[in-house]
Amino acid sequence: MHYVMIGNSIASTACIEAIRTLDRESRITVIGEENHLCYSRPLISYLLQGKTDENRMTYRNQAFYEENKVTVLQGSCAASIDKASKTVALESGMSIAYDKLLLATGSSPFIPPIKGLGEVKNWFTFLTLDEAKRLQSHLRPDSRVLILGAGLIGLKCAEGILDKVHSVSVVDMASRVLPSVLDEQCSLLVREHLQSQGLRFYLGDSIRECTANEALLESGHAIGFDLLVIAVGVRANIKLAKEAGLQTNRGILIDEGGRTSEPDMYAAGDCTEGTEMIGGQKAVLALLPNAYLQGETAGTNMAGGEASFTKAVAMNSLSLCGLHLITVGRYEGESHLIACKNGYKRLFVKDNHLVGCILSGDAIHRAGIYTSILRNQVDLDSLDFDLICEEPLLMAFAKTVRQQHLGGPV
Ligand SMILES: Cc1cc2nc3c(=O)[nH]c(=O)nc-3n(C[C@H](O)[C@H](O)[C@H](O)COP(=O)(O)OP(=O)(O)OC[C@H]3O[C@@H](n4cnc5c(N)ncnc54)[C@H](O)[C@@H]3O)c2cc1C
Repeated sequence: MHYVMIGNSIASTACIEAIRTLDRESRITVIGEENHLCYSRPLISYLLQGKTDENRMTYRNQAFYEENKVTVLQGSCAASIDKASKTVALESGMSIAYDKLLLATGSSPFIPPIKGLGEVKNWFTFLTLDEAKRLQSHLRPDSRVLILGAGLIGLKCAEGILDKVHSVSVVDMASRVLPSVLDEQCSLLVREHLQSQGLRFYLGDSIRECTANEALLESGHAIGFDLLVIAVGVRANIKLAKEAGLQTNRGILIDEGGRTSEPDMYAAGDCTEGTEMIGGQKAVLALLPNAYLQGETAGTNMAGGEASFTKAVAMNSLSLCGLHLITVGRYEGESHLIACKNGYKRLFVKDNHLVGCILSGDAIHRAGIYTSILRNQVDLDSLDFDLICEEPLLMAFAKTVRQQHLGGPV
């Protein structure tokens, strides 16, 4: 048996670990385009801040690959898959035969068509370690940085460089920051907090055109810059899968076991479109825990076990310049707003179940209780919901619920 994985990141690492719990001997080969072993991508902004270094960003070290007898082809790009002959062709010309294949190709930054972008000498994206290091090598105390995109990646980049440069301006077409993960109130809280740290925002606006060092916005504002970062979103890397004849939509379509539409071909992580637990919609959930759990599930099934991942939930836990936020699930149904120190919590209830929450500031403490209620779809009649809203204590659960969902002596 030869297991082959395309992409050497979170999803394939989890897949290796799952395979090795069932199959200690068969060959595993990982094809990875980046010239690094798997690292934690969310840490690239902490690298710029000087809060971590490349060694500490490594997700699994060299010994992990040796102990698990994994051959890693670093800096190798898979160019095509031939499902009839069960081979992967690399850009180098090499061909690798597989028995079971995992596609874990992640996503790539979307670059919108911007008039004049070709004239800009120093522009960057912010998705990979190499790109973060390239940006870092251009940062000077007098640099004026313009970031296009006020989503998670744009703001994490802003946080990473704020103390290192003269100014950071952020432009976004949306009228608020983190529009896809926060409600209006929390967006405002985050924007005001980041403004107080020195960030400048141009919201509800976009770049009409660029010259070498200036962006002219639709509003007529002109922003001078030395470095431009484009962080307007990502697209799942589905080209290989599509060309191989797999069913795709915005991501590679998979079932709850990580199986694609073709036998012996699995997919996991940011490149996939799976089923969201709340609401049951098909969605690309480009989140690290999701990538890990999907990879683990696919690995178990590839090695002949049986696993399914049915608890895919949109969940973000992030910190921006000291402000902590946790968002989970969907913002539908009745909303319950509870103020607390430095922030607030908003819980969303539908059909007597918690379907989403936004926690900011001190409200993030004991977030695990809310996520447990949500993931386990606990009937809210079985607990003291008023107490849960105010103070998420275990005692608010009925004893049977504590036993069932939280386990152990309760
Ligand atoms: C700045 C930043 C902050 C983030 N913060 C958070 C956070 O707070 N919380 C959270 O949950 N998630 C966060 N994420 C997202 C998280 O990093 C991803 O969900 C996770 O890395 C997905 O893992 P993956 O294995 O699916 O793919 P990826 O990590 O994207 O890796 C895919 C790999 O496949 C390789 N590849 C692609 N095509 C080929 C090919 N043809 N041949 C060979 N190799 C190929 C790529 O080069 C890449 O190395 C953040 C991401 C970024 C960039």
